[in-house]
Amino acid sequence: MQLPREVIVGKDVLRRVGETCRRLGFSGSALVVTGPKVEGIAAAPVIESLTKSGLKVQQTLVESSSISQSREVEGEITRFKPSVVIGVGGGKDIDIAKLSSANKHVPFISVPTAASHDGIASPVVAMKGYGKPYSSMAQAPIAIMADVGLIARSPFRLLASGCGDVVGKYTAVRDWRLAHRIRNEYYGDYAADLALMSARLVMRNVNIIRTMSETGIRTVVEALISCGVAMSIAGSSRPCSGAEHLFSHALTMTAPRPALHGEQVGVGTIMCAYLHGANWQLIREVLQRIGAPTSARQLSTENKYVIKALTMAHKIRPDRYTILGEKGLTHDAAERVAQVTNVID
Ligand SMILES: [Zn+2]
Repeated sequence: MQLPREVIVGKDVLRRVGETCRRLGFSGSALVVTGPKVEGIAAAPVIESLTKSGLKVQQTLVESSSISQSREVEGEITRFKPSVVIGVGGGKDIDIAKLSSANKHVPFISVPTAASHDGIASPVVAMKGYGKPYSSMAQAPIAIMADVGLIARSPFRLLASGCGDVVGKYTAVRDWRLAHRIRNEYYGDYAADLALMSARLVMRNVNIIRTMSETGIRTVVEALISCGVAMSIAGSSRPCSGAEHLFSHALTMTAPRPALHGEQVGVGTIMCAYLHGANWQLIREVLQRIGAPTSARQLSTENKYVIKALTMAHKIRPDRYTILGEKGLTHDAAERVAQVTNVID
């Protein structure tokens, strides 16, 4: 079980990355993996802090979350020999830093600039390659440093998406229990409860989150980190990823313009909660109050793509048993689920 050793959530955290590296025993050099959008606002202060602490720094810019991009960064790790890799940015940047560092057996620090998905703290990476999105185990960050001030300046849509990803645990854990009962799959109460607790905390604090106040952002960031820890404890993404995630991956493949990961997961959670016979109305209401999408239209997609994604979701990852079963939903059943839950009209 790999768990983070330091989790720092607060203001002006970027300036403390250098001293944190020192405290964790890193010396020599550090590789900062970041993206063009956040380079100036986030990576620059991180690099300044590292340099001040006496580390030699190299920066590399990420353009896509592809296997080939990870290979490039692995090449840089081989050449530069950093004692630590620091991912600064959103999904892509963190994922590439996580995967490349894991492949080269170098520790990695996660510095998220938005609270849009639980990859900021998990050992799992979501990559594009081989024609479909897939996720795999890489390594957990040795430290997570989330700057609340910085995240507060990111678009609200990203925070709402993070809430969708967390709310998704409501059905992910139900799927896990189902797989345990039907397939005798390993099930861990502790990891499951931790993931569910994160969902409950977000659902209970919608009003605070909506204001994007420091407390609201902290609630979402801590929930995302707890989800990451739940995956570390379970040793897989099981507690955090069920049929709602399969739906999201399927929609990413079918829709011409996919929405954000957490936005799609949120809509998937409404429909999967219905399939589970659970309180889908509650999920819908929570997402609506947060300001996250609850329909095909709000995902800027068409009904037909939602139906298609529902019918093909079970094929995305056949080893992951969910409420969709082995054969998945028929077209008519998928249409009805989406209609009853007001995802399509
Ligand atoms: Zn997710």
